[in-house]
Amino acid sequence: MKKDDLMEKIVSLAKRRGFVYPSSEIYGGFASIYDYGPYGAELSKNIKDFWWKEMVQLREDIVGLDSAIFMNPRVWEASGHVAGFSDPLTECKNCHARFRMDHLLEIIKVQADEKMSEEEINKLFKENIEKIACPACGKNNFTEGRKFNLLIKSNLGNITDNPSEPPAYLRGETCQGIYVNFKNVLDSVRVKIPFGIAQIGKAFRNEITARQFIFRTREFEQMEMQYFLAPKDEMKEYEKLKEARWKYYLKLGLSEKNLKWHKHEKLVFYAKAAYDIEYKFPFGFSELEGIHARGDYDLSQHAKFSGKDLTYTDPKTGKKFIPHIIESSVGVGRTFLAVLTESYIEEKNDGRERVIMKFPKNLAPIKIAVFPLLRNKPELVKKAHEIFDNLKEDFMCEFDDNDNIGKRYRRQDEIGTPYCITVDFNTLEDGTVTVRDRDTMDQKRLDIAKLKRFFVYNL
Ligand code: ATP
Repeated sequence: MKKDDLMEKIVSLAKRRGFVYPSSEIYGGFASIYDYGPYGAELSKNIKDFWWKEMVQLREDIVGLDSAIFMNPRVWEASGHVAGFSDPLTECKNCHARFRMDHLLEIIKVQADEKMSEEEINKLFKENIEKIACPACGKNNFTEGRKFNLLIKSNLGNITDNPSEPPAYLRGETCQGIYVNFKNVLDSVRVKIPFGIAQIGKAFRNEITARQFIFRTREFEQMEMQYFLAPKDEMKEYEKLKEARWKYYLKLGLSEKNLKWHKHEKLVFYAKAAYDIEYKFPFGFSELEGIHARGDYDLSQHAKFSGKDLTYTDPKTGKKFIPHIIESSVGVGRTFLAVLTESYIEEKNDGRERVIMKFPKNLAPIKIAVFPLLRNKPELVKKAHEIFDNLKEDFMCEFDDNDNIGKRYRRQDEIGTPYCITVDFNTLEDGTVTVRDRDTMDQKRLDIAKLKRFFVYNL
């Protein structure tokens, strides 16, 4: 299948089958914002539950957090987000790397004046465009440049709209909520360094080019874990984190051939190391997750801007230090798209084609679909409902009596339901149903009394 075809097919299935819709679509949509439909909401929840289990539940040394989207505006000064990105930026349409326009001009020895307006620098840029190549990918295809701050402002608390008051931003990343709560967690929960704080939550960025479906959106969800440690342990723990995150993706069901490491060669001045895990999306390998060793930069910045002591005292030696941080940061939407890409299968059987979302069972939005063979036979409908009511306590189930059985199977294949149960006339006589397996299409008859045990074992 061609790359573009696959992306198109995934986007179309996602819409048609209730996974992802463009936001406010009846009003013409809203650029780079998406809504998750009934099955998308389930899949997204299952992804987050899986991450939480691996990151928090199974770890003695990591605790969870749920910090607010709004934070004191000073947080974003300390993080560098307010000062950053205020120069005119352009983005390479090919690889999405962003550059200050004056820096690109500098490479070809054209001097831009600091005080140039957006319009003036764009003009200068266009005059020289033939000579400018993207330093990251070498292509020559840039967006219109503009002065740009990635944070999205709100007027929260500023009822007079006084422009001199610093705005309350929607958070641009969830990790700042972790940093500012480091001391609270340390003082209220029995943790000792090394330990991590994990959280899942919304983040907002004024991305200049937001494309590629849910890969890059202006509102998105992040799953982040910040691990606080003694400086001497930073690189040893970093290697462990890298290994754990690689294994995590295999356990999530992504295949190893579709994953690769990308090492950042140019590091920000405080960083010790930075790697991304890339996934082979339909448009090529791109960043899924970032794993960074950040030194003591984050807590030092917050100590400086808040004036609070954020040092840690080693209980054994009594030595004080600012903890260093290593982090793992991944988007829910990007994981969602990776899972859709990995799971999308077209199969031909006896000349008939079917599309299956071969989700790992734990991620499947619906685990079991229950059908009466015919919708106009009340005895069958009643029995099917009884089975549905009994199983729904333990599994996400769906009852369906629309269309014919073939169409119901096809629909369940496309939303990735591992098992379908059909109640037919034999059921009324011998208390058995057919259970159909999504992947093999095998159908076997099972006793109703044994269904629950079968699913507990197989799901
Ligand atoms: P990119 O280079 O793709 O813009 P980034 O390096 O800016 O990403 P980080 O700030 O390190 O990303 O964020 C960590 C993770 O959050 C990313 O690996 C990605 O999975 C997710 N993420 C970041 N920005 C977006 C976005 N606009 N839409 C969806 N997910 C995002």
